[in-house]
Amino acid sequence: MDREGADRAGPGSSLRSLLGKRTADVLAKAGLVTAGDLLEWYPRDYLEARLSTARLREGEHLVVVAEVLKAVVAPVRSNPRKKLLRATVTDGTTEIDLTFFSHWGPAKDLTPGTLAVFSGRAGTFNGRWQLSHPDYQVIQDSVRHQQILPVYRSVDRLTSWQIGTAMGIVLDAVGELEDPVPDELVRRHGLCDRTTAVRLIHQPRAWGDLTTARSRLRYDEALVLQTALVQRRLTAARDEGTARPGRRGGLLDAFDAALPFPLTEGQRVVGEELAHDLASPVPMHRLLQGDVGSGKTVVALRAMLQVVDSGGQAALLAPTEVLAAQHERSVRAIMGPLAEGGLLGGADEATRVVLLTGSMSADARRRALSEAASGQAGIVIGTHALIQEHVQLADLGLVVVDEQHRFGVEQRDALRAKASRPPHVLVMTATPIPRSVAMTVFGDMETAILRELPAGRSPITTHVVHQGSGTWMARMWQVVAEAVAAGRQAYVVCGRIGDNDSPSGEETEDGFVEAPPEGVEGAAGAAGAEDDLGARGHEGSDARAGARRPDAMSLLQAYDLLVHATPQLEGVRLGLLHGRLAGDDKDAVMRRFAAGEIDVLVATTVIEVGVDVPNATVMVVLDADRFGISQLHQLRGRVGRGEHAGTCFLASTVEPTGDDGDVPVAWQRLQAVAGTTDGFALAEHDLELRGEGDVLGASQSGRRRRIRMLRLADPRDVELIAEAREDAQDLLRDDVGLAAHPRLAAWLADTLDDESAAYLERG
Ligand code: ADP
Ligand code: MG
Repeated sequence: MDREGADRAGPGSSLRSLLGKRTADVLAKAGLVTAGDLLEWYPRDYLEARLSTARLREGEHLVVVAEVLKAVVAPVRSNPRKKLLRATVTDGTTEIDLTFFSHWGPAKDLTPGTLAVFSGRAGTFNGRWQLSHPDYQVIQDSVRHQQILPVYRSVDRLTSWQIGTAMGIVLDAVGELEDPVPDELVRRHGLCDRTTAVRLIHQPRAWGDLTTARSRLRYDEALVLQTALVQRRLTAARDEGTARPGRRGGLLDAFDAALPFPLTEGQRVVGEELAHDLASPVPMHRLLQGDVGSGKTVVALRAMLQVVDSGGQAALLAPTEVLAAQHERSVRAIMGPLAEGGLLGGADEATRVVLLTGSMSADARRRALSEAASGQAGIVIGTHALIQEHVQLADLGLVVVDEQHRFGVEQRDALRAKASRPPHVLVMTATPIPRSVAMTVFGDMETAILRELPAGRSPITTHVVHQGSGTWMARMWQVVAEAVAAGRQAYVVCGRIGDNDSPSGEETEDGFVEAPPEGVEGAAGAAGAEDDLGARGHEGSDARAGARRPDAMSLLQAYDLLVHATPQLEGVRLGLLHGRLAGDDKDAVMRRFAAGEIDVLVATTVIEVGVDVPNATVMVVLDADRFGISQLHQLRGRVGRGEHAGTCFLASTVEPTGDDGDVPVAWQRLQAVAGTTDGFALAEHDLELRGEGDVLGASQSGRRRRIRMLRLADPRDVELIAEAREDAQDLLRDDVGLAAHPRLAAWLADTLDDESAAYLERG
């Protein structure tokens, strides 16, 4: 290699200049373009190279560092035109015979005296150890004594070992790395310098080196992340918004006076926080978490009314048309005459509530748009796509985003652009968010939590049933039938619609997403993007089992089953709801279900969030093992919302006991859901089972994954993130631009550069 070039190399150097075009082109396919990119391609595992074959057993996978004693190319006895390379190597104590069918490469590499790592399945022949066409890597002097070998995710046709070799070249070339973390912090946390950490993670000499390296790299990740978030928050706090203090004797007071129930303590406290935020000109930026049924809508509505009382408008954005329409109905119902501004029978202080959906008639839409633009409508409800793209508002003061924790920074920014001054923003989610995720993904927002449920809620009992058992299923349908006979209603949920399901993309509203095979990073990201925190299928091990399992029951199959093969449900009025119905039809089905004209609604997960029909008491989830834990919790939250107790059945074709007599993981997960109704506990459990890769899916699919080392489910890392957050706050307190820490500022700019949006996107 060109020495001079090497001396000048740094993290920004191109891999092409360091490794040559061929290798660089392959690495570029994984988005690895610069030396810095490659250095962050951390090993996914490590192998201990055994120097001794003493403990070797037949059939075991062997990784051994050995020296070539002899190597001969010889014809195959049965087919003299074919040739083999036969080599004998030794690890110092034992000789091992190797055979390679393609002899050209190995014959060139494995000359006597060469030291290499060999890996393959060990066997014996005539009392001698053998490896047939093993993988091997010739050992350079620099790693001659390396006994812990990194294993990299391969990139295209570059194997782990080839990447390891490339890594060695790059590590040698770049020399010292600049340390972006202020010395004081490095010292205080007892960390090693960054160069050492990067070296040790790729070329550890002892297992303890990995601990040292990881501590540092984890901290770095946490610090970049938190510095970005805190910076964003401090910058936003300097925005000039509009104070919306409300007024005495206005809509809000009239609303409170007419409210048929007392607010819960939590609703009252959070309500006061929001009122306080809205009264300030600093734009509010809050995440409201509240378990299913905790009464977030009332809290949001009260905030909206305060804004209307201050002369502004509020937009309520729902993820689906079904939810938007339901919100409009319930907002109108609970506001009564207060929503009939300017109309006969409307109250004096009343405003108007308009709904905007993609499927409304052109006429109705024009009217709604004009009321929004003129300011006559104080409250505009719709799906966010629609409102973001088409609506002009006279004076947007507050945006409430319901059930959409994925509502990201980008979307928030787009909305801001709609108003002359940034509006207040309230994001609501019923999927409880583990603390670590709240700190990382939502770190730029204040949070508020509604923990208690309104009084008088009925308990929900959850049963896990075996879908393959006729008896269990008959009993389950019997419970549904009895509920219907008693005047109640039920949901039957399936993961997919029918035979010609479109690939995801159209399926934003329904459908679980099958977990991609392990190690398929891009796929995990893509799936995550379609999906929310809870909507992933099962973890990897189940996914593989899933591939062999028959398809999950489709909506149409389930409907068929209920109509033709379930005598218990004879005469029961069934309805079908899924994301591919036209908006009007969806709405009509929901209305009929809400009005009690449909007894059993067979649906996809369109009903997952927010749907509120208090008379529904039974929830049946078919193939429940294919849903995420949080998603099941959401689905279960659709029942038990009224005075009647709820029952939830989680049905699964997985056998309750595996071949070995153990309870399969899939079944355990369902039992975890059945075992508690505490959404926060389930969210933590979910994170543990699925890992942060899935939870952060969308934000991690960018060119460079930002969270590689941190384990959001690990309590120690959660602490670390909290510490890094405090550090970031200290650094930025009087220096938002990081003027005193130019290296950190540069690093931040570099890492967040092209994918800051993707990275921070999940809001
Ligand atoms: P979620 O937090 O899941 O969005 P909702 O806002 O839909 O919950 O509220 C669920 C139901 O509880 C609604 O029917 C709502 O009217 C009712 N509700 C809200 N607050 C209270 C309260 N303080 N007391 C009694 N019922 C309430
Ligand atoms: Mg809700």
